[in-house]
Amino acid sequence: VPEEAPSERTAAASGRRAAAPAPLIQLESIHKAFGDLHVLKGCDLEVAPGEVAVLVGPSGSGKSTLLRCINQLEEPTAGRVRIAGVTQGYVEEPLPDGRWQKLSTAEIARQRARIGMVFQRFHLFPHMTALANVMEAPMQVLGRTKAQAQESALALLERVGLADRADHYPSELSGGQQQRVAIARALAMEPELMLFDEPTSALDPELVAEVLAVLKELAEGGMTMIVVTHEMGFAREVADQVVFMDDGMILEQGTPEQLIEHPQSDRLQGFLASVL
Ligand code: ADP
Ligand code: MG
Repeated sequence: VPEEAPSERTAAASGRRAAAPAPLIQLESIHKAFGDLHVLKGCDLEVAPGEVAVLVGPSGSGKSTLLRCINQLEEPTAGRVRIAGVTQGYVEEPLPDGRWQKLSTAEIARQRARIGMVFQRFHLFPHMTALANVMEAPMQVLGRTKAQAQESALALLERVGLADRADHYPSELSGGQQQRVAIARALAMEPELMLFDEPTSALDPELVAEVLAVLKELAEGGMTMIVVTHEMGFAREVADQVVFMDDGMILEQGTPEQLIEHPQSDRLQGFLASVL
């Protein structure tokens, strides 16, 4: 076996180091207040491309608000959200006087379209079949033809295990099936990252696994994801990092092993005792 030239080895090694990717999601000191209610109190978080972050914490700790700041359903009171290096909601360069200029509503909608979001409740269009639900946004927003939209919608329904339910209406589907249609619908917009806000907590227990299986497969396919969930088994198995929020702050973050097996704070220990 011919030996690799040392110079080549060095180049390859440094190439790998240099390839350590820039974060896809960067949250810098995010604050959010609703009137006097200070809901987010300075959250910093980075998620690398292809990484899965699982966000946990007690009800009311600010998890949904943080996700909503990422896709600009809420505007942070202070701090900034950067996606792929681009500050969300603002023109990239400040004005000469140092003020930041907000983007137009249309530009914000364009940024938001790059981020898929799936909620606890599925919000499917009740008068449309599963297939039509998945086809709608690509035709309306991305300008796809009906034939293009149908082809990719069928492929997506296949991917979430619902090829045989394409012609069913939401009322004819189980909660788990409806949530899988909602995931396919979000994926149809070809998002760069996906946010899931308690995607299984409205489901009957026997339907949770089929939705988590879709999330796991998506993660294995390299999708960058932030998932709010109390499913610690999923966190253990799929998360690259687990983030514990409490009272508007990120109190602990690390690998599932660090967070779940070796919680540092009393607050996290208490939280884990309530969900495990
Ligand atoms: P979590 O998702 O962790 O349960 P949320 O982000 O939904 O927490 O809520 C955090 C806090 O912010 C709660 O006290 C909630 O009542 C409050 N809150 C969320 N959205 C609003 C809003 N639009 N107006 C006023 N208060 C809000
Ligand atoms: Mg919530």
